[in-house]
Amino acid sequence: MCKKQIKSTVGKPTLRKYKMKQIIQDLTKEELAEKIKPAFRAKQIYQWIYHKYATDFEEMKNLPKAMREELAVEYTLTPLKTVTVQDSIDGSRKYLFELHDGHTVEAVLLLMRDKEYHEDGSLKHQERYTVCISSQVGCKVGCAFCLTAKGGFMRNLTAGEIVEQLRMIKKDNDIAANRRVNIVFMGMGEPLDNLEAVAKSVRIFADEEGMAIAPHRQTISTSGLSSKIEKLGKMELGINLAISLHAVDDELRQQLMPINKAYNIESIITAVKNFPVNDRKRVMFEYLVIKDVNDDIAAAKKLLKLLDGIKAKVNLIYFNPYGGTEFKRPSEEDMKQFQEYLTKRGLHCTIRESKGLDISAACGQLREQELEGDV
Ligand code: SAH
Ligand code: SF4
Repeated sequence: MCKKQIKSTVGKPTLRKYKMKQIIQDLTKEELAEKIKPAFRAKQIYQWIYHKYATDFEEMKNLPKAMREELAVEYTLTPLKTVTVQDSIDGSRKYLFELHDGHTVEAVLLLMRDKEYHEDGSLKHQERYTVCISSQVGCKVGCAFCLTAKGGFMRNLTAGEIVEQLRMIKKDNDIAANRRVNIVFMGMGEPLDNLEAVAKSVRIFADEEGMAIAPHRQTISTSGLSSKIEKLGKMELGINLAISLHAVDDELRQQLMPINKAYNIESIITAVKNFPVNDRKRVMFEYLVIKDVNDDIAAAKKLLKLLDGIKAKVNLIYFNPYGGTEFKRPSEEDMKQFQEYLTKRGLHCTIRESKGLDISAACGQLREQELEGDV
């Protein structure tokens, strides 16, 4: 992937209305097989969409011409348009996509590990990618530190609009269909506030005839809607769970995340304890570290106690500042001390690399710049 700074503007988003065809990516293979007979055609169509990244039904040459024409009348294959692409010096690439109604959402391709070769020139390993995708336009949860929250809530994404973000990114970066990619639902929106569509997208991503991304390669991050965590657990999807905790006492958490009034820390911990976790996995607790707010060792101590008895890992995140926020990024030293306190006492704890910091990779930030006309 090219690492120099590129900026491409394909067009400004405009709100417009027209009759929308159904998004074919909204359908699971089974739903498609119900609609398109004979049923083996659904498998072929899935392969065209998710292996060959087709953008026009006319490309689907192994389908009868009449079927291609009927599909084009009923469905759209291209529900998203790329508005901007920004490259970071660390190899991550951020996309702003426009939906059919003019709203925009972000997704980020993160290069977790570069391609490497042995000394004899043979391939040691391929690049490793994680894609961060959005589940809603805006968010209702209203966290004080989050830029997505500032724009309010517009609407839920459909399963197809969620799936399409990854398909667009894979196509744009020539990532072959059979290459493993990890997915994190850590873009704009609260995934559990759009549970049905998110769960459907997890299943579509996992389809063997489609992108074949196993659920254990997909992580849903939530601000802690306890009742929905329980519901998600009962769905037995096999996905990984990440909890955006950010504070260890209810008073502070309530100030940072108003949702804590409805679902306090104790209710989240109970829901996590009931959640089915893959034997080889842990529940991730994300802890956004804000200078002089939640970065002291007393908080680390409480965190340790809170997670006692849970198969947990902690991911410390540097607060990523943006114009107009009163919050500040913590020092590297404070982050390291916080981490060390936990790891020395046996809790897995990593510091999230500030991937794409130069392109404002904390989700919501590119969109906000675009709406303000800064991009
Ligand atoms: N709504 C879900 C998922 C999307 S937010 C959730 O909150 O978990 C994904 C992550 O981005 C959250 O952990 C959130 O705390 C983090 N985030 C939000 N604003 C940020 C900022 N300014 N700097 C760094 N991380 C931020
Ligand atoms: Fe919504 Fe997550 Fe942002 Fe909170 S951090 S406002 S839950 S997107």
